[in-house]
Amino acid sequence: MTYAAELIARKRDGGELSAQEMSELMLGYARGEIPDYQLAAFCMAVFFRGLTAAETYAMSQAMIDTGETLDLHSALGRKVVDKHSTGGVGDKTSIAVGPVVAACGVPFAKMSGRGLGHTGGTLDKLESIPGFRVELSTDEFVEQVRDVGLAIIAASANLVPADKKLYALRDVTATVDSHSLIAASIMSKKIAAGADAIVLDVKVGEGAFMKSLEDARTLGELMLDLGRSAGRETVCLLTDMDQPLGNAVGNALEIREALATLRGEGPPDFAELVTAAATRLLLLSDLGIDETEARARVERTLATGSAVEAYERWIRAQGGDPGEDALPTAPVVRELASPAAGYVAELRAVRVGEAALHLGAGRRTKDDAIDHAVGIVCLRKRGDRVGAGEPLAEIHARTPEGADAAARELADAYVVGDEPLAQRPVVLDVLD
Ligand code: URA
Repeated sequence: MTYAAELIARKRDGGELSAQEMSELMLGYARGEIPDYQLAAFCMAVFFRGLTAAETYAMSQAMIDTGETLDLHSALGRKVVDKHSTGGVGDKTSIAVGPVVAACGVPFAKMSGRGLGHTGGTLDKLESIPGFRVELSTDEFVEQVRDVGLAIIAASANLVPADKKLYALRDVTATVDSHSLIAASIMSKKIAAGADAIVLDVKVGEGAFMKSLEDARTLGELMLDLGRSAGRETVCLLTDMDQPLGNAVGNALEIREALATLRGEGPPDFAELVTAAATRLLLLSDLGIDETEARARVERTLATGSAVEAYERWIRAQGGDPGEDALPTAPVVRELASPAAGYVAELRAVRVGEAALHLGAGRRTKDDAIDHAVGIVCLRKRGDRVGAGEPLAEIHARTPEGADAAARELADAYVVGDEPLAQRPVVLDVLD
């Protein structure tokens, strides 16, 4: 039996790997010395047997050691904060949170990813802004955080290269849905990207990896442990993803909604999450303020226009045109009317995400091109009252046929019932 096969067999039989063994496995895989099929078997063994806390930490550290790491604290001489979401439909939170935090004088530095399937990626949304550059060198990234207080860029190819290979492998071997593997994958990238403090947003619901609050809590606690073991202050929000976040789903539409939120005119659920996440980031920062003061400062940036100014400085610094008029618009805009009077009982996030994907807002495979202009605006959300024939949603399409197809899918996403529903908060729990 080869060395890798011995490690796979041990995990298959419920045994434990040492930090040294985990390191050899990850380094061997990143260097191409251990083949995909052995790592696929290892991931499946982990899927069924899990990893201990010590193994999960060893795996995240081993993955970090396969690439370069950043130390933003040393580079900037002060505490830097970052945020990460496990991904959902309509999740443009970082695009609004970054400027709010920067407007409060706290450096925000984020490396981000692209979307696949029904969830969108922050980079894709930002690329709907004409001229915006997501590929910055590490030096440019650090300089921009120092000068402007904010940068969101594509993760460099050399940041945790083992995860890039492993995530693609897990995607095609039914091994994504493992708490340990997800926690090690996300936290290795966050730790390598070099911020001192991290707010994690773990999405919960039918549109998210984690379908139940219990599962989300397990994942959140694992990630908190990894962050703390690596010396990073970490807080985790568990937030609702049964319905899309905010109203807009689709790249340029989401940028418009983020901007409206920075002007204090955002949809209530999205505005609440932006405020909650930004407040937590300020609490973790070097400002030394309490929660009441942090929330007050966040709200002030939205009321005074300073968050919009921070957004404009940031977008210009990365080569983009921050004007709303510069964003692309779709040629066909059509409303979906409610078939009956009542209250929205359900607005299924996955269906909305898939309708947006089929309009061209997302990609099915990683090489697909994206149409930044198209998408959906959910004019009614769960619990909202609607009259018969009144609009539930607005479809932004490239062609009339695309709008027809999206209307059929969206009609399936909405369930209108007779009874009013109690509103559910967007932030379901906070782990800290
Ligand atoms: N996002 C990641 O970066 N990794 C995972 O494993 C799952 C979601």
